[in-house]
Amino acid sequence: MISKSALADLPSPAPRSADPDALAAEIIERLTYSIGKDAKVAKPHDWLTATILVIRDRVIDRWMESTRQTYDTGGKRVYYLSLEFLIGRLTRDAVSNLGMLDEVRAALGSLGVDFDAVTSLEPDAALGNGGLGRLAACFMESMATVDVPAFGYGIRYVHGLFRQQMSDGWQVELPETWLANGNAWEFQRRESAYEIGFGGSVDGIGANPAETQRCVWKPQERMVAVAYDTPVVGWRAKRVNTLRLWTAQPIDPILLDAFNAGDHIGALRESNKAEALARVLYPADQTPAGQELRLRQEYFFSSASLQDILRRHLQEYGDLRSLPDKVAIQLNDTHPAISVAELMRLLIDIHRFGFDAAWEITRKTFSYTNHTLLPEALESWPVPLFERLLPRHMQLVYAINAKILRNARLERGFDEDQIRSVSLIDEGGDRRVRMGNLAFVGSHSINGVSALHTDLMKQTVFSDLHGLYPDRINNKTNGITPRRWLMQCNPGLFSLIRDAIGDEFMDNTEALSALDAFAGDSEFCARFAAVKRDNKVRLANLVARRMGIKLDPSAMFDIQIKRIHEYKRQLLNIIEAIALYDQIRSHPERDWVPRVKFLAGKAAPSYHNAKYIIKLANDVARVINNDPAVRGLLKIAFLPNYNVSLAEIMVPAADLSEQISTAGMEASGTGNMKFALNGALTIGTLDGANVEIQEHVGKDNIIIFGMTAEEVAERRENGHEPRPIIEASRELSQALTAIASGVFSPDDRDRYAGLVAGLYDHDWFMVAADFEAYADAQRRVDALWVDEEAWYSRTILNTSRMGWFSSDRTIRQYAKEIWKAGP
Ligand SMILES: *Cc1c(COP(=O)(O)O)cnc(C)c1O
Repeated sequence: MISKSALADLPSPAPRSADPDALAAEIIERLTYSIGKDAKVAKPHDWLTATILVIRDRVIDRWMESTRQTYDTGGKRVYYLSLEFLIGRLTRDAVSNLGMLDEVRAALGSLGVDFDAVTSLEPDAALGNGGLGRLAACFMESMATVDVPAFGYGIRYVHGLFRQQMSDGWQVELPETWLANGNAWEFQRRESAYEIGFGGSVDGIGANPAETQRCVWKPQERMVAVAYDTPVVGWRAKRVNTLRLWTAQPIDPILLDAFNAGDHIGALRESNKAEALARVLYPADQTPAGQELRLRQEYFFSSASLQDILRRHLQEYGDLRSLPDKVAIQLNDTHPAISVAELMRLLIDIHRFGFDAAWEITRKTFSYTNHTLLPEALESWPVPLFERLLPRHMQLVYAINAKILRNARLERGFDEDQIRSVSLIDEGGDRRVRMGNLAFVGSHSINGVSALHTDLMKQTVFSDLHGLYPDRINNKTNGITPRRWLMQCNPGLFSLIRDAIGDEFMDNTEALSALDAFAGDSEFCARFAAVKRDNKVRLANLVARRMGIKLDPSAMFDIQIKRIHEYKRQLLNIIEAIALYDQIRSHPERDWVPRVKFLAGKAAPSYHNAKYIIKLANDVARVINNDPAVRGLLKIAFLPNYNVSLAEIMVPAADLSEQISTAGMEASGTGNMKFALNGALTIGTLDGANVEIQEHVGKDNIIIFGMTAEEVAERRENGHEPRPIIEASRELSQALTAIASGVFSPDDRDRYAGLVAGLYDHDWFMVAADFEAYADAQRRVDALWVDEEAWYSRTILNTSRMGWFSSDRTIRQYAKEIWKAGP
């Protein structure tokens, strides 16, 4: 160790230069001395790594300064716990936020290396499934941007979300190996390691051991969580925060003991068991993964994160009573909800707090974000599994439950129905621990992610808990980072906007509203249209290259990209395409608006209907794209392997954004925001954030159709009968008959019998019920498209009025209203 006085005299490294010549020299230096390659033989990946190492140095300067500043000012820290971070590529984001795009481009250029080619070699960090994980990534960037001291905590999965390949139109899942070429952005922190236990037994301490007293948990199985840190650079590099991802390793002493005792196989088994924990991300979106390994992952990263948080707090303040003043922990959905019981355990068993004092600290520290109302998506664990894996936490859950229910009965006069609904244990059928209820009672704030979702949360899943704690539920409408989702993915539009209204919107996204004045300016409309066209050409080239489908960039680009799920209703979109196909063939004399329908998205590997929807899209595409009677007026392209990088190419190229979920089922959506910000019109239902998008962009600039959430609920209550609705619509019944009779699957005529039967039988997602309204809305879209200048005016007004949906706004609201942190 180094002495304090010596520390004071340590030379500090000189801040790194941003000059292109200096950058180029450093890149060569790194290539030679860090990677060990001569520039003459260096492979593209070597250039990428050398470039990242040089950029990383600039980030580190800011990173250390941010950490020092939080430490010196005693600022409150925010900890964002999420089992998913859908980050995408980091390098361009970091360079852009450092304000060094031109310099790095020039430096590489002087070495004969193309910046875009090199940075596109970086694999996507796909440590998430969809919207929930992408939100966590946008939030990390916005917390750094608005100067909130924050850590993100998650798992460093060796394999992120699977890579999707198409084989004869079917989805095939391949493992994603994002770490195959190393990851120059991360730092292993061997010193930040914590022991994590599972199973075993619990002993009380003292004469009268009760559940609420201090206990000693003797886990049967133990492993170590080791941290890997990735810096997250905010806009203009004002602050750099940390994303800390945990990996699991076997405990060395066990390994050594076993080895010394000659039990080499046993030692390896321990080692494999630990490493299996962080190997894969469960590809479950809107469904609980349900496997024991998933509960282990949840506990593993919750426990490691909490131990890390308590250690840091004790080191700085020496006393855990001040924890809620200095620490805010946000639970991203229920995946980290076990943290509530883990913090109680750490406070009571390790740090010797009484139960009530521990409970007070816990509730004041945690807040919870709910992401779904789908009953099948609410996480719960069988009591026997929970008890076997986490015996001490089971006791604490019972103790918390007893306290909550006592209060509900005695103080609030809850009846038995209400008690059953607020209980942490679901007693219907096999007994299960309800993670949503645990997160709710252990938090001082529970937020929904759009105004509609928050209202519905109060009325449905949490109605009785809301009755018990009426001041806890609040709304924080989601947002997206305008750096990745405008400035970086759409450089053409970015520079057009700068030319028109100056730079203020770069620091305050709502200043985009100055574009309103240009919506009636035909010269500006034409320039806006030209940018859109360039982006469409870029996408068309990609489709030609990857899929061999030739597309006309002057056609309307109609895009639906998101996870494949019945409630998102890709099926509605495909059926409408079939109906349009029929119409184009029956009425060749009409002026049809040329359209390309793009779809992309992954299906959970075990989700049967979702996989058939992908196959159907490909089957329908093959028939329509090759039918000369269509005269190229309609094309369909299902792009494989949807991920953040593909979204960055597709979003700027969209004319029409499909946001057509069954009303009441999409909590917010963030894809909807990306498209509208980039100048696409939305066709959508009054669901999730679409409602607020309509309020911001104005009714004339969005195409809304279909039943409201209230109407959907009412119709379900009264028993929805789809058959008469289908029979009353010629277009719909023809389209369904075509699908069911094998027009699109001549090789297997019954392939879609089940899918179509579901629509006739129950139509749970109201595809049949909303079909006519949707088809009408599409013809309204066609009518709008024909008046080109009016169309572009509307798209300009979308870009202009979407500033509010910046995740900077969302994070400022969390910081002010929930965390009480930040500037
Ligand atoms: C934005 C985004 C999502 C979320 O899209 P929704 O349309 O809101 O479901 C999912 N995946 C990726 C890769 C994204 O970028």
